[in-house]
Amino acid sequence: MSRVFNFCAGPAALPTQVLAEAQEQLLDWNGRGLSVMEMSHRSPEFVSIAAEAEQDFRDLLDIGDEYAVLFVHGGASAQFASLPLNLSAMGERVDYVDTGLWSQKAIKEAARYADVNVVVTAEQNQFTEVPEQKIWRCSDKAAYLHYTPNETINGVAFEWVPESDVPLVADMSSVILSGPIDVTRFGVIYAGAQKNIGPAGLAIVIVKKELLGKARQDIPTCMSYKVVADNHSMYNTPPTLAWYLSGLVFKWVKAQGGVAAMELVNRRKAAKLYNAIDSSDFYSNTVAVNSRSLMNVPFTLSDDRLNSLFVSQAEESGLLNLAGHRTAGGMRASIYNAVPEAAVDALVEFMSVFERDNG
Ligand SMILES: *Cc1c(COP(=O)(O)O)cnc(C)c1O
Repeated sequence: MSRVFNFCAGPAALPTQVLAEAQEQLLDWNGRGLSVMEMSHRSPEFVSIAAEAEQDFRDLLDIGDEYAVLFVHGGASAQFASLPLNLSAMGERVDYVDTGLWSQKAIKEAARYADVNVVVTAEQNQFTEVPEQKIWRCSDKAAYLHYTPNETINGVAFEWVPESDVPLVADMSSVILSGPIDVTRFGVIYAGAQKNIGPAGLAIVIVKKELLGKARQDIPTCMSYKVVADNHSMYNTPPTLAWYLSGLVFKWVKAQGGVAAMELVNRRKAAKLYNAIDSSDFYSNTVAVNSRSLMNVPFTLSDDRLNSLFVSQAEESGLLNLAGHRTAGGMRASIYNAVPEAAVDALVEFMSVFERDNG
């Protein structure tokens, strides 16, 4: 079967070139006669793979020495617990912004360990717009301020970085590497790998070194940022295959011209899709224009009863995984770095034909 276009929100499309390279090396990495999966994480071979991946990631986001980069287990959801356990004392105040479902999951988990203050919620506009910062009610003294720059499900994104007197923490799972960021504005950035980095099961944490060592005594050892940092993410066995594949993705992003070049393509892809939606009466997206995600584009059809027909005909045309999140309904096209512009062109064309036949 020929390759199709995959609009899955996660685990998401990987660059075809990366998969081909991984396939070529699957049985025999660099002439060593072994697969990466079978190597000791402490072998010189894997240590070099790991170090190179970290360096490429640092280069891509221009991450300075004052930050540690951790490769950890448990996806982004484990970080929802890891954050309060690493950065706040028991029952200490922590501030959270609520812009959608992923914010709420982070809030719910943090509330098990810390005193969560929700500084603002986008609920009053049905989570279709990022609330401007002047109405946020931040605490006098919080251990950190957490927000979700890109809400993967409702397609709501920040196009600005909040100001904060306390360490700023961002869940960048669905937006990391889609464009440049000023890492120095953040205390912690974390991301599950399966959207824009690599395979599921890995998360990457960028943490300012001055924040290491604030963890509670009772934190699970393998979750302690300091322990993980001191051991170069090898306190216990890391997800080696995911780490290696992520490294291949970093090299691919570099070869595309880095994150600034990715952003240009991502903006073009998103503009094409939003234009198609906005210029039709058949499709709609209710997110405020200044809060629209470049990565996840939810949209509805004028008649919900056409949803399953849309999804099945799209599949027949090789356009996969367009059904919206189970809590949101409608459609959603996730157009991460590895989804080529040709995929968006094909989708826009399909949407136009579907509207003509059913509108
Ligand atoms: C997918 C996602 C998560 C959850 O990631 P897991 O690896 O499944 O834990 C958290 N936050 C955001 C913004 C996401 O898109």
